[in-house]
Amino acid sequence: MSEAVDCDVCIIGAGSAGLSAASGAAQLGMRTVLFERDAMGGDCLNYGCVPSKALLASAKAAADARGAARLGVKASEIAVDFKAVMSHVRRTIDAISPKDSVERFERLGVRVIKAEAKFVGPRDVTGGGFRVQARRFVIATGSTVRMPPIPGLGDVGALSNETIFSLDRCPAHIVILGGGATGIEMAQAFRKLGARVTLVELERILGSEEPEFVDMLRRVLIGEGIELREGTRVARVERDADVITVMLDGQAESLRATHLLVATGRKPRVESLDLEQAGVAFDDKGIAVDARLRTTNPRIYALGDVAGGPLFTHVAGYHAGLFVRNALFRLPSRVDYRAVPSVIYTDPELARVGLTEREAKEGSDKDPHVLKLDFTDNDRAQAEGATAGGIKVIARKNGTVIGASIMGRHAGELILPWTLLIARKLSLRALTDLLVPYPTLSEISKAAAGAFYAPKLFSAWPRRVVRGLSFFS
Ligand SMILES: Cc1cc2nc3c(=O)[nH]c(=O)nc-3n(C[C@H](O)[C@H](O)[C@H](O)COP(=O)(O)OP(=O)(O)OC[C@H]3O[C@@H](n4cnc5c(N)ncnc54)[C@H](O)[C@@H]3O)c2cc1C
Repeated sequence: MSEAVDCDVCIIGAGSAGLSAASGAAQLGMRTVLFERDAMGGDCLNYGCVPSKALLASAKAAADARGAARLGVKASEIAVDFKAVMSHVRRTIDAISPKDSVERFERLGVRVIKAEAKFVGPRDVTGGGFRVQARRFVIATGSTVRMPPIPGLGDVGALSNETIFSLDRCPAHIVILGGGATGIEMAQAFRKLGARVTLVELERILGSEEPEFVDMLRRVLIGEGIELREGTRVARVERDADVITVMLDGQAESLRATHLLVATGRKPRVESLDLEQAGVAFDDKGIAVDARLRTTNPRIYALGDVAGGPLFTHVAGYHAGLFVRNALFRLPSRVDYRAVPSVIYTDPELARVGLTEREAKEGSDKDPHVLKLDFTDNDRAQAEGATAGGIKVIARKNGTVIGASIMGRHAGELILPWTLLIARKLSLRALTDLLVPYPTLSEISKAAAGAFYAPKLFSAWPRRVVRGLSFFS
């Protein structure tokens, strides 16, 4: 017999989306119930952003130590202690986890139920011995790895993002399937930590990014010793004791690895929810939502990865804000993905917001203004000996910015002003008068804005005006 609970908001999933929605609802005085069947914090904290960035930080430290000689510092022998690296990963999760803990959310007034939830009707959810009725529901159950239909893949003990951060020994040879952000980040991390790495991608790596920056990153990865197999299909995989054999379509030679990581994309986590009971429509991309994130049952919202938009923690948080506005304040607010930044946390990083040149030309901006600058012209990048990369800005003829990509050290930190320009529909003019500290990498953004106006500023008529004014001195 289940205990009946009546509340204002019932949320399923305590990841980035569910936690933000729960915190907002509870702080607004809503009686809030939150179901979580696994670890509080969801993928981002436990199996995604946090452990991957911690692992990359260790990898970068190893690479920086090996490369310190180019700055005149000779480090003797560099040794990677993989167990200590994984302790750093664990410590990072532990340091952040109190923010997402049951205790913190209970202090905020949320009733947390550590159990799997499912719908048993359009207004009823059960789980953990409770039957919850609510005025509004939130499905925030995230996404999980999409296993490609490769014969043998289910039988070889392949790793995913949910298992890779529990390794206790550095793989001798890891084959990574998938050249998206996760595959590329993990390839660089494990290579720098000492593994042999082969990355197999069906098409081209990072296919949605600016091709010139991808070419640059490809050269960096190959230079680091990562074997890239693009345009390659895996025909079948087999395991024999400790060896995983990866057979490639149309190639006589196969790969022999100790580990196999699958990073071939994500699918929505919906199987356990019995969505049919609630009249919530979904497909293999996610739960169907309208522009206000309402599902086909108007009492139920879907937020975060499960709603099938851009798969980022900051988007999950943004969705939660929209839920609070739409469902709690009753202020109609539509989702707007024009200014969603993304970062690939390799070294150098690749950050983007808005459109690429190709996307702009395929859309309504057939002939956009494209500005490109390299970090070789940036004094700070020169001082740090880190000049790989640059900036590419896509703007309309009037200077309104519609896209920006930055490749370089700290590119993820440098993308913010461009996010602001695109979100607020501002033109490059907003950057030209700013005082930017010298010498910083940020100067590249001001320089790009300046490059847009320079041809106009130094054209014939301003020169004539200045020459004319000089007679009055
Ligand atoms: C390796 C990797 C690296 C990443 N790096 C970044 C990054 O650097 N930056 C970034 O912005 N994004 C990153 N992401 C993406 C980011 O992790 C996700 O976009 C984010 O976690 C989505 O949050 P969410 O709340 O939608 O889902 P999740 O965080 O997945 O949370 C969903 C929760 O729902 C729970 N749940 C599911 N079903 C039920 C049920 N029936 N009952 C109860 N609970 C249930 C799950 O246990 C889970 O805890 C990364 C992802 C991966 C895989």
